[in-house]
Amino acid sequence: MAELRDEAAAICDELAELRRAIHREPELGLDLPLTQQKVLAALDGLPLEIRRGESLSAVTAVLRGARPGATVLLRGDMDALPVTERTGLPYASRVDGVMHACGHDLHTAMLAGAARVLSARRGDLAGNVIFMFQPGEESEGGASRMIDEGVLDAAGSRPVAAFGLHVASALLPRGWFSTRAGALMAAADTMELTVRGRGGHGSQPHLAADPVQAACEIVTALQAMVTRRFDVFDPVVISVGSFHAGTASNVIPDEARLSATVRSFSPGARQRVLEEALRVVHGVAAAHGLSADAEFVDSYPVTVNDAAETTFATRTVTDMFGDSRFIPTPNPITGSEDFSLVLEQVPGAFILLGAGPPDSDPATAPYNHSAEAVFDDAVLADGTALLAELAMRRLGAAPEPGAAPAETVRG
Ligand SMILES: [Zn+2]
Repeated sequence: MAELRDEAAAICDELAELRRAIHREPELGLDLPLTQQKVLAALDGLPLEIRRGESLSAVTAVLRGARPGATVLLRGDMDALPVTERTGLPYASRVDGVMHACGHDLHTAMLAGAARVLSARRGDLAGNVIFMFQPGEESEGGASRMIDEGVLDAAGSRPVAAFGLHVASALLPRGWFSTRAGALMAAADTMELTVRGRGGHGSQPHLAADPVQAACEIVTALQAMVTRRFDVFDPVVISVGSFHAGTASNVIPDEARLSATVRSFSPGARQRVLEEALRVVHGVAAAHGLSADAEFVDSYPVTVNDAAETTFATRTVTDMFGDSRFIPTPNPITGSEDFSLVLEQVPGAFILLGAGPPDSDPATAPYNHSAEAVFDDAVLADGTALLAELAMRRLGAAPEPGAAPAETVRG
């Protein structure tokens, strides 16, 4: 076990160099040509089958072990955020208004490192590893496109397990790993709605059909729905963050436009909140003789960790780094993640890794997405080693054809 850690530690300077190069030139969304180039350069010469994405600048790399066996998928996302960096770091973003404020530069470097370390172990490997370098995590649905383009079938057989890491610049002490079985992160759905009425003079509302009044009632009815229709132990959150209507105090407008974010923590609650929210919107509008159009966009499902794979991943962390480097995630995180789409099809686990700078207090340090969020290179080797070890062990535990499943090993 210590070996993979040592092998990752031996390349920590190269990992930091790659990470900083990506950090200096961050790119947004689905089209990340410079990042893709850096990944391809880092993988150059390794015994990998490499495919580039068609509708996005993804990289899918497959490592085939010396012996046949199952397939495991490892994923790292590569995109940055529209944030102007204020860290003052020597390798800070050189691109105005774009920053790796969510640490995806570290994910990319760790995944490339895992490809490197595992390639050197190809002779010991029974089975295949798919390395999924994904653009467009932040809201563009990069995982969904990569799935459409066949990432899950890249090795010829569906992965038996999928793992991903996410760094955090706060909350967790540096070098600590954390995860939980079941829901780890929320589903996020955006509801766009338009309440359609009939405009008129503000002094004669009875001759118009006022969309502002109905829209206000919709906002409060949605909050009442949250408290009256949902179990407090399987919660949902709705926040109407945008509300636009009208041009003047004495003019009733024709319509009001609202948008809301909807968060939920179980697939069942998610399905119900989406249905019930539409019912409330249409019902309140109809009660006042108006109509409404509402739809959900930019949707990411709940990130659900498989119980057995989470136990396996947790044990791998504590075997490698000791009990003191692992803390269970107490509650699901209200942020969302499109690795959820992979985990809907392949059992697996998503794991958090504390990566704040050494002198910062995890309770108060600027968190992911902040212009001041700092992620420390010191975690790169351990993140790389964990990804590689998860694949190595999980394939080692995969049953030989015809053999009984190796449940005891998998744990
Ligand atoms: Zn992120």
